[in-house]
Amino acid sequence: MSAATATVAGIAVPTDHWIAGERVPSSGDARFEVRSPIDDRHLADVAAGGPAEVHAAVEAARGAFPAWAELGPSGRHEILVRLAERVRTRREDLARVETEDNGSLLLGNTKNVVNRAAHNIEFFADLACRLSHDTIVGPVCDNHVRYEPAGVAALVTPWNAPLMLSTWKVGPALAAGDTVVLKPPEWAPLTCSLLADLAAEAGVPAGVLNVVQGTGETAGAALVDDPGIDRISFTGSPETGRRIMGAAAETLTPVSFELGGKSPFVVFADADLDAAAKEVAGQYVNAGQVCLAGTRVLVEDGIADDFLERVRAAVDRLPVGDPRDLATRVGPLIHPDHFERVSGFVDRAVAAGARPLFGGGPHDRGGLFYAPTLLTDAAPDSEVVQREVFGPVLTWHRFGTESEAVELANGTDYGLAATVFTTDEDRALRVAGAVRAGTVWVNCFFVRDLAAPFGGTGISGIGREGGEWSFDFYCDVKNVSVRRGSFTGESVDG
Ligand code: NAD
Repeated sequence: MSAATATVAGIAVPTDHWIAGERVPSSGDARFEVRSPIDDRHLADVAAGGPAEVHAAVEAARGAFPAWAELGPSGRHEILVRLAERVRTRREDLARVETEDNGSLLLGNTKNVVNRAAHNIEFFADLACRLSHDTIVGPVCDNHVRYEPAGVAALVTPWNAPLMLSTWKVGPALAAGDTVVLKPPEWAPLTCSLLADLAAEAGVPAGVLNVVQGTGETAGAALVDDPGIDRISFTGSPETGRRIMGAAAETLTPVSFELGGKSPFVVFADADLDAAAKEVAGQYVNAGQVCLAGTRVLVEDGIADDFLERVRAAVDRLPVGDPRDLATRVGPLIHPDHFERVSGFVDRAVAAGARPLFGGGPHDRGGLFYAPTLLTDAAPDSEVVQREVFGPVLTWHRFGTESEAVELANGTDYGLAATVFTTDEDRALRVAGAVRAGTVWVNCFFVRDLAAPFGGTGISGIGREGGEWSFDFYCDVKNVSVRRGSFTGESVDG
C-alpha cells in the first residue's frame, strides 16, 4: 500500500487530491482521518486541502475550460458516456466503499445508488445534445437563444450520499461544458476519489474534473471564496448555505443550493393505510439521514390509532444492523458528533414533554446505532419539530381537517418535499397546491425523475436543478437578437 492509497473493503482508494490530471498531496502532507461508522475502523488518511490546493485546482479547471467548451455537447457526450460505463463497471467496488465510508446500505448502493450515479452522467450528456435552442420571433428581431458553458463550477457535497449527489452535479456541469472542482464531504470522501480515477480512464481531459479533499471550514471555504469560479452548486445544511452565500456575494457568483428538510408526510383517513405505513417506515432507512425524509407524520384523527399500529408493525420489520448485510434496512449514524447531535435533539424534546411512541434512545447494538424513534406530544413550535434532526427520528401529529393538515404541513421554515397519501384525487391536488415544497409526492415517496425540476423553497434551497433547469444554472443563457431581413435586404417595420 503506497502512502497515498488506502485499502477499503479490499479496494485500493487513492487518498490524495486529483488536480490537473495528477494525484497530489497537500503541502506538508496534511491529512485527516476517516473512520467507518459501522465499527469505528480506521479507513484512510485523506489529503487535507487548503487555499493552495484549491487555487491550483481552480487554475487547472480554468486552463482546461476553453478546449472542453469547444468540444461541444456531442464531443463531450462520447467521453461522458464512457465515464458512465466506467461507473457501472465498478458498481460493486463503489457500493462497498460507500457503505464502509458512510454506513449507507450496501443493498441500496449496489441496487440503486451506483446505477443512479452512472445515469446522472449519461442523462445530462444526452440532454445537452438535445437542448432546445429556441428562436423567439419578435416584431423586429429573431432572438436566438444559446446555452453557453459558464466556466468553472465549484461543487460541494454532503456525506449522506456522496457519489450520488456529486454525480448529480458533475454530470450536468460537465455536459454543459463547464469544468469542475469538486469538494467531497470530509466524513465520507472516498467514492469521490474513485470517481476521479474513472474520469481519467474514460478520457476526461486533465483539469476538466478536479477533486480537492478537505474540511468544509478550510477546503470548502477556500473554494467558494476563490475568484476563479463561475458557479457554486452546494448540497448541505442551511447553516453552511448561509456562509457560502456570504462568500458568493463578494464575487456575485450564482449559487444553486439544495439544503435541509423537515418534510411533512400527510396521511388522510381514506388512504391505503398499509402502503402509507410501509412508506413511513421507509423514512428510517439509512438511519433517517435522508434530506427528503418525511419526518413529520401528520395523521387524520379517525385513523390515527389504527395507523400507528400499522407503522409500528412496519418499523418492527426493519432489521437494524450492519449495513453490509443485505437484509439490513437501518444502519448506523455517520459519526460520533452526529450521534451526539441526534441524541441531543431527542433528549431535549423528551425533557420538554414529548413522548416516544417507540425508540427514544441509542439502539441496543451500541456504537453509532440509534433506535428508530417516533415522538408524540412535541409542541408544533418546539425544536424537534422545527429543526432538521437528520436521524431516525420522526414526530407524530394528528389533524382533524384538511386545512389543519395544510397548516401543520406548512408550519416550518423548510420546504424541500411533502408526501400526501389519499385516494381522493381532488384533495390530493388541492393539498399539493397548498403545501410549500419543491416536490410533492402523492401516494408515493422518493421518486426522482432526472428530467423533473428538483430543489426546495424556504430555507430548503435556492434554484432548481434537474432536466433543462440544470443547464439554466450551469450555462450562461445568451440571446442573439438579429434584425430580421438585415442580411437579405428585406425591410421590417418597427
Ligand atoms: P454540511 O452543510 O455540514 O456540509 C456539506 C458540505 O459543505 C461538506 O462537503 C462540507 O465540508 C462543506 N462545507 C462546510 N462548511 C463549509 C464552508 N464554510 N464553505 C464551503 N463548504 C463548506 O452538511 P452535511 O452535514 O454534510 O450534510 C447534511 C445536510 O445536507 C442536511 O441538512 C441535509 O438535509 C442536507 N442535504 C440536502 C440534500 C438536498 O438535496 N436538498 C441532499 C442531501 C443532504
